Amino acid sequence: MTRQSRLFVISGPSGAGKGTLVAQLRKEHPELGLAVSATTRSPRPGEVDGKDYYFLSEGEFKRRVAAGEFVEWAYVHGHMYGTLVKEVERLLAQGKSLILEIDIQGALNVKKVWPDAVLIFIEPPSLEELERRLCGRGTEDEQSIELRLKNAKHEMTLADDYDVCIVNDTVDRAVRELSDTIERYETEGGK
Ligand code: ADP
Ligand code: 5GP
Repeated sequence: MTRQSRLFVISGPSGAGKGTLVAQLRKEHPELGLAVSATTRSPRPGEVDGKDYYFLSEGEFKRRVAAGEFVEWAYVHGHMYGTLVKEVERLLAQGKSLILEIDIQGALNVKKVWPDAVLIFIEPPSLEELERRLCGRGTEDEQSIELRLKNAKHEMTLADDYDVCIVNDTVDRAVRELSDTIERYETEGGK
């Protein structure tokens, strides 16, 4: 069976579990490439520059925007985040399917540039569970959690614009659905 490399864009509300699912998926499928984004937010404890993000000052980020170095970029929860053209080209040149884990505005912008991109929405089982996960992660202060929850209510209404929607109820089940979805698009174009 022939397999076609594809660009998969994974997004959904902050705290829905995108990072958790992508990390598990890549353990099972190390052949999948993951584009490292750039951001102006500060690193969280344990995050490594060049691995989790390219951490840039706002001045440097804006300079790169002006130089046309981003496929897309957006203000998300008060900080700048963007996908670097170089990063995508490097991974696509390796002939790998590629994952972008980016916010919803960014995902819809990628689809405009790459109509073939497959947009996958990761949904939490409920807003109550989303709040539990954001609080449980312990990486944001109360104000930042509130902003993310407020944004989530609007973001959930945009799931219809996606090719696929996956509810992250349990990690194992959601990763299986994610992995099956990728397989289906690589082999049958998603039919
Ligand atoms: P995102 O990348 O979407 O912001 P994370 O992957 O950081 O979200 O997950 C947010 C929190 O929820 C983390 O503490 C993570 O361990 C937890 N989590 C992720 N998926 C599940 C799940 N299926 N059930 C319970 N907790 C989960
Ligand atoms: P976090 O700060 O929790 O790592 O990410 C916050 C949000 O920024 C998440 O919704 C994440 O998907 C999004 N994000 C990460 N990288 C990019 C990117 O390159 N572009 C866009 N538009 N959003 C991104």
